[in-house]
Amino acid sequence: MSLSKNGRRYIVHVDIDAFFAAVEVLLDPSLAGKPVIVGGLPHERGVASTCSYEARAFGVHSGMPLRECYRLCPQGVFVRGNYHVYEAFSERFFRVLHAATPDVEEASLDEAYLELTRCGHIYPSFTEAARELKRQVEREIGVTVSVGAAPNKILAKLATRRAKPAGFFEIREGEEETYLRDLGIEALPGIGPKAQVVLRLMNIHKIGELWELPRGTLHTLFGAGGDDIYLQSRGIDSRPLVTRTLPKSVSRETTFLEDLWDKRLLLAHLAYLCDRLTLALREDRLYAPRSSAASSCRRSRRWARSTRSPRNCSLSSWPARGWPCAWSGSRPRTSSGSGPWRSSSPTRSGRSGSAGPSTRSATSTASARC
Ligand SMILES: [Mg+2]
Repeated sequence: MSLSKNGRRYIVHVDIDAFFAAVEVLLDPSLAGKPVIVGGLPHERGVASTCSYEARAFGVHSGMPLRECYRLCPQGVFVRGNYHVYEAFSERFFRVLHAATPDVEEASLDEAYLELTRCGHIYPSFTEAARELKRQVEREIGVTVSVGAAPNKILAKLATRRAKPAGFFEIREGEEETYLRDLGIEALPGIGPKAQVVLRLMNIHKIGELWELPRGTLHTLFGAGGDDIYLQSRGIDSRPLVTRTLPKSVSRETTFLEDLWDKRLLLAHLAYLCDRLTLALREDRLYAPRSSAASSCRRSRRWARSTRSPRNCSLSSWPARGWPCAWSGSRPRTSSGSGPWRSSSPTRSGRSGSAGPSTRSATSTASARC
């Protein structure tokens, strides 16, 4: 962890407001000002992945079952969403951020931490740099972002929460206690629902009231988590930014509305998925020693085959070498371990399919363990 000329870190947390819903409004301006709920149609199973602030006014929130969303907000505009479009917007978002500083932690598709500490020679004022970054992202992407700035990650994230929606908020060195004192204990990430119950039973509701508890007491109550609570409640966080994370696995998935049994069609889909998978691996300069292809139908049975990935293979030759031989082409038998198929429990859809209703449908997946 490096420090700026005055010995202080400067962390900026950037979060796109209601990301998926904001993109839908951008693509269809007639949705502006309406309660938009992304994740599926009201009669479908599944949950809302994002909802606009207009929908939140009805009590709808991310992770809520779609039927519950419809009950609370029948006038809402329900859209299934398109993950690939959101991914494209996310790439543009991070391109802008990476141009501002080399120290960027990509926390999720629409959220990042930036450390400006080492950029003092470029930015005479970090505050003005953070404000300009906000303006620049909004100009380039076309959606509003909330920005928080502080001497560490936890305070920067709390500052963003205060800035929402579409605002900027800064917690300066020395202002931590003033800001934290009256915040509810649920604001700290280290205090989960169970810890909240325990603390409320002790008549502790605000972060300022936590300061009365000695560190040893918190440790006795919550173990190592108690030490985190002690530090977080005082705005202390020395975690560095994680600027490069290697994925443990990469996968690409296609969801079908109906079960498919046609050999050529399935092979074509698998080849297409393998192409996309190997392209993703090459773009990130990753090598995966093992890879697998899988198919599942909506009756919750899954057939999978894995193999060692060949080194030095071309984009087109890898799927041709790897997968047609793994696919018998006949309707797979359903008992575990029969024939070339291995039966296992179905998995949830990967990154590429999370915006769709894939848990109920037939899928084909190509994945690689890095
Ligand atoms: Mg967001």
